[in-house]
Amino acid sequence: MIPISSIAFGEDVEQEVLDTLRSGVVAQGPKVDRFEDEFAALVGVRNAVAVNNGTAALSGALQVLDLQPGDEVLTSPFTFVATLNSILDAGATARFADITEADFNLDPAVTAERITDRTKVLLPVHLYGQTADMASLMPLADRHGLSVVEDASQAHGATFDGRGAGSFGIGCFSFYATKNLTSAEGGMITTDDDTFADRLRVLRNQGMRERYSYEMAGHNYRMTDLQASLALPQLASYPEQVTARCCNAEALQAGLKDVAGLRLPSVMPSREHVWHQFTLLLDDDAPIDRDTLAARLAERGVGSGIYYPKAVYDYECFREHPRVVLEDTPVATSVAARCLSIPVHARLSESEVDQIIAAVRDAMGARA
Ligand SMILES: *Cc1c(COP(=O)(O)O)cnc(C)c1O
Repeated sequence: MIPISSIAFGEDVEQEVLDTLRSGVVAQGPKVDRFEDEFAALVGVRNAVAVNNGTAALSGALQVLDLQPGDEVLTSPFTFVATLNSILDAGATARFADITEADFNLDPAVTAERITDRTKVLLPVHLYGQTADMASLMPLADRHGLSVVEDASQAHGATFDGRGAGSFGIGCFSFYATKNLTSAEGGMITTDDDTFADRLRVLRNQGMRERYSYEMAGHNYRMTDLQASLALPQLASYPEQVTARCCNAEALQAGLKDVAGLRLPSVMPSREHVWHQFTLLLDDDAPIDRDTLAARLAERGVGSGIYYPKAVYDYECFREHPRVVLEDTPVATSVAARCLSIPVHARLSESEVDQIIAAVRDAMGARA
């Protein structure tokens, strides 16, 4: 079976981890510092603060904004649950604007309509490796005095108008095992604001600047040098990894463009896509539905994934939550029922890409 994601650590990672083990510094230390510096350079920001996972990155970013009860965070309903959990964790109220089918990200027109007097933060999610429409969203945030927190967990190195995902507001990244860059578990917060960065460093370390001198109620959000040593060598070869993903995406686009009933993902103007996922949408009049396609691909040795099967608020625990505002998001609801991601990762061989194309064509009843 061709898996939807695949990791293999090279000898460079083995060496770096061994070096860390032998150094005796396994918790946060010099490798985390180096990872922060190099990641800040990738994103194009002054500061990067490493944390223990992407959810902690989002939680930390929202916490330094000092949200008050009743303050609203406006975000995408088509995301991983961590986006919503971090809003609730920060004590804020979550509200949702719809997405567009074109990029699976916040629709700026609907977003504008859903801003209220209580909205304090705009939280776009850069899903599947492509940024939201930041040329429309940033002026909207400015006009309404909103802070911007970006969930860039899937968009390491993606750009909009040449600017890195995570450099527009406070950027939040994940290095979970399936992401484009991984430290097994890990996260990063990026910002040009030195004051936020300083507060985030104190927040992640129990609110402590000097030992046993506490400045705020904090957390243990620290990353370890062992985690950083998994990620550092990957950072060095990341441009080649992204190029491989882009080549795979182009081959899939070329091989599937004439298949009736399928809508293929595309790169929007002004954006560089890092292809965390390659996500198909089945048209309403497609010959088969999404679940049938997934089953037929599995029979043909091709793994796939549904990211995500429902709008994030559409679960009993959130529908009944006093701090989740329920409003319709028809595009997200429809897309969640029709989306299927197929492998695009950097470890695919050319023949595997051909096998994926043939399997999708066959499953959809397209000519070979
Ligand atoms: C992975 C992911 C997160 C959470 O990251 P963790 O490191 O798993 O905590 C948040 N948002 C999105 C969109 C993600 O894909």
